[in-house]
Amino acid sequence: KKYVYMFKEGHADMKDVLGGKGANLAEMTRAGLPVPPGFTIATDACREFYRAGETVTTEIQQQIDQALAELEEKVGKKLGDPADPLLVSVRSGAKFSMPGMMDTILNLGLNDATVQGLAELSGNDRFAYDCYRRFIQMFSDVVLGVDHYHFENILDQVKETRGVKLDTDLQAEDWKEVVSRYKELVRKETRAEFPQDPKVQLDKAVHAVFKSWNNQRAQVYRRINKIPDDLGTAVNIQIMVFGNLGDDSGTGVAFTRNPSTGENELYGEFLINAQGEDVVAGIRTPQPISALKDVMPGIYQQFKEIAHRLESRYKDMQDIEFTVERGKLYMLQTRNGKRTAQAAVKVAVDMVKEGLISKEEALLRVDPNILDQLLFRRIDPAAQLEVVAKGLPASPGAASGIVVFDADTADKLGHEGKKVILVRPETTPEDIHGMVAAQGIVTSRGGMTSHAAVVARGMGKPCICGCEALRIDLRAKQVTVEDKVIKEGDWISIDGGTGRVLLGEVPLIDPVLSAEFKQLLDWADEIRKIDVRANADNPEDAAKAREFGAQGIGLCRTEHMFMALDRVPIVQEMILAETEEERRIALDKLLPMQQGDFEGILSAMEGLPVTIRLLDPPLHEFLPNFEELLVELTKLRMSPDSDPVLIREKEALLRKVRALQEFNPMLGHRGCRLGMTFPEIYEMQVVAIFRAAANLKQKGIDVHPEVMIPLVGHVNELRIMRELVVEKANEVMEETGQAFEYTIGTMIEIPRAALTAGEIATEADFFSFGTNDLTQTTFGFSRDDAEGKFLHQYVQHKVLPDNPFIVLDQSGVGKLIQMAEQLGRSVKPGLKLGICGEHGGEKSSIEFCYKNGLNYVSCSPFRVPIARLAAAQATL
Ligand code: ADP
Ligand code: MG
Ligand code: MG
Repeated sequence: KKYVYMFKEGHADMKDVLGGKGANLAEMTRAGLPVPPGFTIATDACREFYRAGETVTTEIQQQIDQALAELEEKVGKKLGDPADPLLVSVRSGAKFSMPGMMDTILNLGLNDATVQGLAELSGNDRFAYDCYRRFIQMFSDVVLGVDHYHFENILDQVKETRGVKLDTDLQAEDWKEVVSRYKELVRKETRAEFPQDPKVQLDKAVHAVFKSWNNQRAQVYRRINKIPDDLGTAVNIQIMVFGNLGDDSGTGVAFTRNPSTGENELYGEFLINAQGEDVVAGIRTPQPISALKDVMPGIYQQFKEIAHRLESRYKDMQDIEFTVERGKLYMLQTRNGKRTAQAAVKVAVDMVKEGLISKEEALLRVDPNILDQLLFRRIDPAAQLEVVAKGLPASPGAASGIVVFDADTADKLGHEGKKVILVRPETTPEDIHGMVAAQGIVTSRGGMTSHAAVVARGMGKPCICGCEALRIDLRAKQVTVEDKVIKEGDWISIDGGTGRVLLGEVPLIDPVLSAEFKQLLDWADEIRKIDVRANADNPEDAAKAREFGAQGIGLCRTEHMFMALDRVPIVQEMILAETEEERRIALDKLLPMQQGDFEGILSAMEGLPVTIRLLDPPLHEFLPNFEELLVELTKLRMSPDSDPVLIREKEALLRKVRALQEFNPMLGHRGCRLGMTFPEIYEMQVVAIFRAAANLKQKGIDVHPEVMIPLVGHVNELRIMRELVVEKANEVMEETGQAFEYTIGTMIEIPRAALTAGEIATEADFFSFGTNDLTQTTFGFSRDDAEGKFLHQYVQHKVLPDNPFIVLDQSGVGKLIQMAEQLGRSVKPGLKLGICGEHGGEKSSIEFCYKNGLNYVSCSPFRVPIARLAAAQATL
């Protein structure tokens, strides 16, 4: 079996075998680009390594040795040859790029003898020892497990005694000293000499890369990104080229387009006289790629051409790593670049216009799940801002939170539901969990391609990098900017789009859609075959939904209208009423208010259907909390000058609250059960709807109310409620002399409703799947308890593939939907079907709805664009 491939043997479609990095190095080699030669040990070898009990089998070892011999032959150098040593990098690379997750070792092959050979050959002692110390540090960190922090300490000490700030200011002698102190450190830490035999170095390095597949940060990354654990990583062994040979050398990273905005311009950074990770590590702040034009005009031109070629070859924006050695350009990596949602949309639309890809491809390029970044709120331009510092706008979006200085605290507070902003000098893969928990990230060092920037963009979080004005004191847990001191726990806000760091909490406003975003959504509308509606309870949300392209309202909850401050007393009066008569008096006061609500919404949605759900929650939700009330009453009773009338009122209220308390409110007196026992409540709502409809109709406004009865479990419930609605409709038509259209339907949110959908359909014009409740009742989970107590663990330990409240459980809850669809339509072929749970805005759930013949999905107004795109993707 073939486990090892020379670069020239592979190509871009071999990512499964060669990993992303290896496949693309092979592809670039085939394209004739200047790639330092090398070979790739395939992912099969990694899986075989684990199968064999973490050893490299003889068969694989032989193939590696053979490839190495071929490489030595090709470049005319030998590993370990003191006169002219072959030096290589050992680079991990899995199928899916996992930035910074696995470690790369550079300059492998150096030892006390070969370093002198390198020095003589290059005529540059300083360079040779710089390479050697880097190698010792990387190898010791990755392979021998000596923390890089120890090495950095030594380096800092040497720099301090020499009185220099930058690594580049150190001379050959200084590096020699660093090297000998490094070796001493390794001896002390590992009780062994630093391995001098290059062959041993290589074997150990390969072994370590395989092992790094299972290190903790790789596992966390895979979990977050849903990458299977059994893919394994490939290992790339590649001839070294050197960017640290002097001022005619350098290293850089660039994107073919701006990964933050999508603008079609080269975007990236480089450092002169530097190696490998220096750019990303944020040790020195690099120069923008545009400056390369002045420093190395020829190289810049060549790089631009290659970038363009790579983009046309891959038909996607590329993220490219390169090195210049003594005026010659080498390509070290290319991959499809990670980008913000804004950039993803712009690049996809631009590439259609440039003729690179089709509209369908463009639609598939954008992951609907990341679009909420674009629908996120921005800082209100009218707000008073106190800008304390400005850094690089590394990832757009605005966020406010309290400052924390380490990932663990961010993680802890984040899980407690606090909003935090993680502030660090720079971030490393060890900080991932803190970045996940934070609203946004700020670093004082590093550029647009630093770890923090790349990871934040991937997560869609606002991030500001290289904010050098911040002086962060990790020990004192505070940051100083000029004369201001910000302590842990203080509020700050960040604007990742401009790089501004702001004091305090800042008001955020709704987003607007870019021209490209609108274009993409128009293409989506052309091909999708399922409607998208919105859940909205007030005219403002309805208008927003419409602006975002909603084709109606799928769920208008009426209970929120009862919660308005000026209405609560009337609603309470209605609930506290002892007799129907008293209740009707209160309801009569509510009627014109409800009518006004409906007029607002129906006219905002002129010409489009509006599904209005009658009152759903248990009545006690409108009353004060029992315990709080008790405390209040006790205080009143104890204070001598309390008004006895007030005390009696509170006592009555307390009795009622107690009477309405339920053991299990979710399964209690709510939904149509309220309508069955207090028909006057539903009657009032229905009259309000129909009076609104009649009134608007008279004004020439086209309205389409759809009355929805919640929580039906038996057809008789719906039959009785339907009679009530029809009777009131007729009354209103008579009283106003105005005819109007309406339909009556029900939520399917209880398993029994789905099971008896054939019966229920006889009384329904439409079904709307209320998948929030349907998920609760199907699993027997109460959502509030489940999410707080055990669901998190279920998902983490893969008991459940996803949180079923976010991603529709297709095999369980979904089966009920399918059943209801079939039973319902077998009785009534034209039965209209929709979904109004939160799943209506989630990609995989939308696809499920489309495949199962639903007419529409309905989601929150801000998810409407996401749903439009996902609905289009479902048809592709
Ligand atoms: P990552 O997956 O973290 O990006 P890489 O394997 O790409 O790690 O290596 C990181 C950096 O090391 C590269 O961007 C490049 O600058 C440097 N590097 C890797 N291999 C070589 C090589 N053969 N010659 C010179 N530099 C190299
Ligand atoms: Mg890389
Ligand atoms: Mg419900």
